[in-house]
Amino acid sequence: MTNKTDKKEDKGAGDNEDSESLEEQPLDIGEHYLVRRRSDDWHPAEIIQTRYNDQENHYEYYVHYEGYNRRLDEWVPRDRIMNSRFDMSEQQWKNSERNPVDLLDQTDRKITRNQKRKHDEINHIQKTYAEMDPTTAALEKEHEAITKVKYIDRIQIGVYEIDTWYFSPYPEEYGKQSKLWICEYCLKYMRLEKTYKFHLNDCSWRQPPGKEIYRKGTLSIWETDATQHKLYCQNLCLLAKLFLDHKTLYFDVEPFLFYILCEVNEDGAHLVGYFSKEKESPDGNNVACILTLPPFQRQGYGKLLIAFSYELSKLERAVGSPEKPLSDLGKLSYRSYWSWVLLDILRDFRGSVSIKDLSEMTSITQTDIISTLQSMNMVKYWKGQHVICVTPKLVEEHIRSAQFKRPRLTVDVNALLWQPPNRKINYAKSGKK
Ligand SMILES: [Zn+2]
Repeated sequence: MTNKTDKKEDKGAGDNEDSESLEEQPLDIGEHYLVRRRSDDWHPAEIIQTRYNDQENHYEYYVHYEGYNRRLDEWVPRDRIMNSRFDMSEQQWKNSERNPVDLLDQTDRKITRNQKRKHDEINHIQKTYAEMDPTTAALEKEHEAITKVKYIDRIQIGVYEIDTWYFSPYPEEYGKQSKLWICEYCLKYMRLEKTYKFHLNDCSWRQPPGKEIYRKGTLSIWETDATQHKLYCQNLCLLAKLFLDHKTLYFDVEPFLFYILCEVNEDGAHLVGYFSKEKESPDGNNVACILTLPPFQRQGYGKLLIAFSYELSKLERAVGSPEKPLSDLGKLSYRSYWSWVLLDILRDFRGSVSIKDLSEMTSITQTDIISTLQSMNMVKYWKGQHVICVTPKLVEEHIRSAQFKRPRLTVDVNALLWQPPNRKINYAKSGKK
């Protein structure tokens, strides 16, 4: 996107940039145009939202490509949109090529077509969810989630410029930027590069707040109490939401502890990922939210965080499970971690072992153990209960299988300096006496 192409579009604009911006009229929300995708092909798309980019002096358009998943919705400059409107007749729609995967998204598209009307309605009469009947409330929530415009395309954090995945509720003027600048140490977010650069010189932070409770090689984990470091934890949640689809915790952070994983070098402790955990969980959850930042994904950090959460549960002498729903990535990581832990025990175990024994050894709940063993065909339901049914051969087969992945990073319990906080642990729930 350059000013040059903009001027070409904007016939009759004056020579200086100010008059150009005054004369440019934005396209209408709800209209359809052919839009050039990143793959360079033209595809029918609906204009969902417009914004004025005051740094580059032109309008940008948030478009939804007809028939494609909403994850592909994006901001495009005017020069990627064809000049004349695209008349989206039913026949053309039927004739157009459709991605089979997206046929599952029928409701998605219907809502899209009502977007403009909805947009108008929302601005005038917005009932709160509490005032609606439960079905309407659920539909409205779903609609809202689907139609949220992801304004923030990219963030700069430390040395990384990262493309974002989802909407995050940064406060008004920040939430409408295309790029946010985030201090990797204190997580303060900024709209302008110059403010960011000034902040980097000014900021004295070099590590997360709270207590360092784990250090092994260059890896370090801090425990941060959100009551004492509320702003930092809120900022962490806003950052995380850019990469998590279903996350609702941003502002009411005080009931949580945050465990923050960093790679440490001579400059400081660089944020890699984290998980949050309720101080008191009535449902027995030992993880509320878990994320590895995209530049660090697929390198074993996520499973290290999972393993760490279970090491804390072991010290608490409690069992725990992650809060549901898990993201697709989360599900895969957990299933892989559970399989590895259980196979590792079963391989060396002589004699009989019950599901309850495994749960006490690992702090993994019996439910999670049963579902994992079921997925490996290692459990039978016999006389009203689940019984482990496994031979050394079957264990070896699974260990040799493609799905079995030994963790790249493991927790060294000797490097963990942590005592459970002095609070009542619900031993009845943990199944221990
Ligand atoms: Zn800072």
